[in-house]
Amino acid sequence: MIITTIKELRDYLDTHRQAGKTIGLVPTMGFLHEGHLSLIRRAKAGNDIVVVSDFVNPTQFAPNEDFESYPRNIERDERLATGAGAHAIFYPSAEEMYPHGSSTFVEVTGDITRVLCGASRPTHFKGVTTVVAMLFNIVQPQKAYFGQKDAQQAAVLMKMVTDLHMDIDLVVCPIVREKDGLAMSSRNTYLSAAERAQAPILNRALREGKAAFEKGENSVEELIQLITGKINEAPLADIDYVSIYAFPSLETIETVEEKALAAVAVRFGKTRLIDNIILEK
Ligand code: AMP
Repeated sequence: MIITTIKELRDYLDTHRQAGKTIGLVPTMGFLHEGHLSLIRRAKAGNDIVVVSDFVNPTQFAPNEDFESYPRNIERDERLATGAGAHAIFYPSAEEMYPHGSSTFVEVTGDITRVLCGASRPTHFKGVTTVVAMLFNIVQPQKAYFGQKDAQQAAVLMKMVTDLHMDIDLVVCPIVREKDGLAMSSRNTYLSAAERAQAPILNRALREGKAAFEKGENSVEELIQLITGKINEAPLADIDYVSIYAFPSLETIETVEEKALAAVAVRFGKTRLIDNIILEK
């Protein structure tokens, strides 16, 4: 069932809440793939009612980014989400979410939003935290589901929930990959055949980094060099960053002692892909 207005969604959820049902939320930008569906299945297993939001959020895109061209297909999304266990698909317009006069934002400040993707996308996470806070207020779920694919997003949202004392459990789910290791992403559809063939280098390089770590290499500099060298073997790869930070604080480290995140962003033509792996003893 597709619901397009906040009022209708609230009425629908109020009925279920009054009947004592628990609500799980899966925020997405649509053009669903197996990664999204794994979150929906997980939400279905842990809640009575599953709401999937399907909203390409304009405030998390910079003017030079792909807001206009971002792939959209609500009919297909409804079919896939329902098949995976969603009860309601919230599909609002930009005007519904940001009516005339809307001027309030939620922003997690500090290095956590400045490092990694925050460096090349300085306004991105402010848009993400604002829209997710709105969705939390509208849906009031007990649990919300996010992918490890966007590890920095998960870390920033955990900080928001902690800092604002939001009574919501964030469940972070593993990265779902294509057979050749490429992390599933709605943006993979932008890749040319040649770019698609080279894109699995992100996962291969991260796995080599993890293997070196497991053999005893714990210098962040050395591990970054190893991962960078591997990615540069793909002629079409143009590295935005290769970084390692403590996770989920995203604090700077020189050696990996506790749980850490090795993360990469790489451009193939005009498509920017991200991937990551957790390093942990
Ligand atoms: P998006 O529609 O790209 O904003 O993603 C919506 C949610 O799905 C986010 O929490 C993502 O981290 C998650 N997600 C996207 N791709 C994957 C993937 N390959 N595996 C697991 N989760 C994913």
